[in-house]
Amino acid sequence: SEKRLISPEVRGEDEDASLRPQRLGDFVGQAKARSNLQIFIDAARGRGDALDHVLFVGPPGLGKTTLAQIVARELGVNFRATSGPVIAKAGDLAALLTNLEERDVLFIDEIHRLSPAVEEILYPAMEDFQLDLIIGEGPAARSVKIDLARFTLVAATTRLGLLTTPLRDRFGIPVRLEFYTVPELEYIVRRGARILGAPITDSGASEIARRARGTPRIAGRLLRRVRDFAVVEGSGEITSAIADRALLALDVDSRGLDQLDRRYLMMIAENFGGGPVGIETISAGLSEPRDAIEEIVEPYLIQQGFVQRTPRGRVLTARAFSHLGLAVPEAPQA
Ligand code: ADP
Repeated sequence: SEKRLISPEVRGEDEDASLRPQRLGDFVGQAKARSNLQIFIDAARGRGDALDHVLFVGPPGLGKTTLAQIVARELGVNFRATSGPVIAKAGDLAALLTNLEERDVLFIDEIHRLSPAVEEILYPAMEDFQLDLIIGEGPAARSVKIDLARFTLVAATTRLGLLTTPLRDRFGIPVRLEFYTVPELEYIVRRGARILGAPITDSGASEIARRARGTPRIAGRLLRRVRDFAVVEGSGEITSAIADRALLALDVDSRGLDQLDRRYLMMIAENFGGGPVGIETISAGLSEPRDAIEEIVEPYLIQQGFVQRTPRGRVLTARAFSHLGLAVPEAPQA
């Protein structure tokens, strides 16, 4: 479905909606982020003031949007959602901001993709709850100031490095999300199966969890696909045997790596002797945009110890060679 400028719930990804935890207490994992948020939310509620602006940073599918919705619900305020690329003009953002009520949450996904002109009007809005607009052109142009409600901006980004420093500095509550552990994902899979009404064994849940790339969104997707397999090919119960067969058919390997992950590793191993090799070369070799490789492919491979980022480029580890079933080179680079 199309991205809209504003929507009461979140854009697209209807699949996600039913599995989204609603309260901070239902949210599994990210213990540090959760306890910090709880404290700041309680304090803001106690003061009757808007929560300070929050920035969620981390790879896709780790729960940034879900947490943003939870923050609004815990604060008992309205939730408005949009995203960086959707806000084309300063006027679009002005329209969103002037419609906010006191203490409301405005969620901006992919905030690193805001245009500089839009970012410019966001600064005074975040800092002083004021809009500075230029009306008219040429000698007749004049600037007007409009007071805004004291709102909370909750923003999400997969790429902290792409945010300008002045923008980054305006978030009082930066929160970094981490990949989930297998036990956390097992819990999420079992909860999802309960919501979907799909019977699952403990070993079935753990098989899906181990292959979900540390990511709840992937766990949810795999769960649905495996459930389909269980219904068509088995008794309907999700066992580890069914999960294993389904995931093999979906090209998800024993460590949760998909085709693109393996193409990435294979290319560095076979064409570049394990590296170091630069990101632009990798991007050209795979015919995949650099952004997607840096945002989606590499974070998990790095976290799992398959790849290292060095000043001279990406380097495969011995673990990556073994996973690919290749001999580890004589003097491994890393
Ligand atoms: P992001 O905004 O970081 O890309 P989302 O918040 O959209 O990620 O989450 C993606 C999916 O994963 C949603 O379906 C959500 O329900 C699920 N999810 C994320 N975090 C959790 C969690 N901690 N527990 C259970 N489900 C989660």
